[in-house]
Amino acid sequence: METRIEVGILGATGMVGQHFVKFLRNHPWFDLKWLGASDRSAGKRYDDATAWRLAGAMPDSVAGLQVDECKPGSAPLLLFSAMDASVATEIERAFAQAGHVVVSNSKNHRMEPDVPLLVPEVNPDHLKLVPGQQRIRGWKGQIVTNPNCSTIVLTMALGPLKPFGITRVVTTTLQAISGAGYPGVASMDIIANVVPFIGGEEEKMQQETQKILGNFRGDHIEPLHAKVSAHCNRVPVVDGHTVTVSVEFSAKPSEADLRHAFDHFSSAPQERHLPSAPPRPIIYMDEKDRPQPRRDAERENGMAAFIGRLRPCPVLDYKFVALGHNTVRGAAGAAVLNAELMHSEGMLD
Ligand code: NAP
Repeated sequence: METRIEVGILGATGMVGQHFVKFLRNHPWFDLKWLGASDRSAGKRYDDATAWRLAGAMPDSVAGLQVDECKPGSAPLLLFSAMDASVATEIERAFAQAGHVVVSNSKNHRMEPDVPLLVPEVNPDHLKLVPGQQRIRGWKGQIVTNPNCSTIVLTMALGPLKPFGITRVVTTTLQAISGAGYPGVASMDIIANVVPFIGGEEEKMQQETQKILGNFRGDHIEPLHAKVSAHCNRVPVVDGHTVTVSVEFSAKPSEADLRHAFDHFSSAPQERHLPSAPPRPIIYMDEKDRPQPRRDAERENGMAAFIGRLRPCPVLDYKFVALGHNTVRGAAGAAVLNAELMHSEGMLD
């Protein structure tokens, strides 16, 4: 890649915004040049406007940048969005209308019928929805989204199994506290405890999974005709969402077939050698007590899904456990990989 592409972040001062700043440091294609936030932060230097909460120092390359208002004008073409959900709908649309490519981590547009909800290894063809945004909404630009942080782990695990005809899924999450942002869950609630409720999370997992595993049909996505039931729990883990999964198929494959599908799964990001793509998106672990968040979430730069304990399920057909890094593969890394896939498709030209 000869020419680096200038990029910006909407909501750069927040928790996810900071993960974008960290993930984009030294990116071979994308050059972070613009930072947007609310009018509380606009006009300040980034290091004055931001309470940096990630491990390691704030990168020098952004510390002195001036934060801008989130209004179309001086921002680069490509914008990663980590906007507060209460304002993301209007602001992301205004940028798309003005011709920007908005690659969003916010929930607001994920279920819009003409907006791709993208996992590059699983449904890269859903990018074909984008021309409809321009045709019907009259946008000069576009919005593409990544899923919720637990949905991404589930769909990366189910993606290789889709050819076997998924009919029913029951999943239980053990979600890290970093997924709740800052200050997140009160310490008195989460230390040595489990909180069996995360507002809106179960509905998001169920609906987003059906859209991601659905099929592109000309101008819309036909959702996967599978029943998905999610139980979502917050647990005292810092980083890494664990997801246990039971799954049923229309024609029950052998356990060896499923294992082969996990072991040989590879897709467009790997074939195109996208910079943030893990060489193997699924890593199956044979140890009987893995994957574990503390030991495994950071491996492969936090971009792979780790799977283990594949075995027969006495209720559905098979069950297994999956793990992914919620703030990397579940947030900033997911959006950056989306943008890399879009660039490889010529959508940023
Ligand atoms: P956050 O820490 O509260 O940050 C919100 C950002 O939005 C800040 O940069 C804030 O700027 C900006 N903002 C707020 N009001 C604005 C306005 N009126 N105009 C322009 N900018 C405004 O939130 P977060 O935890 O990073 O989450 C951001 C988004 O990512 C949310 O949609 C959330 O659902 C989603 N998400 C979060 C996580 C997570 O792990 N936290 C995971 C997945 C998805 P100021 O600093 O100037 O107020």
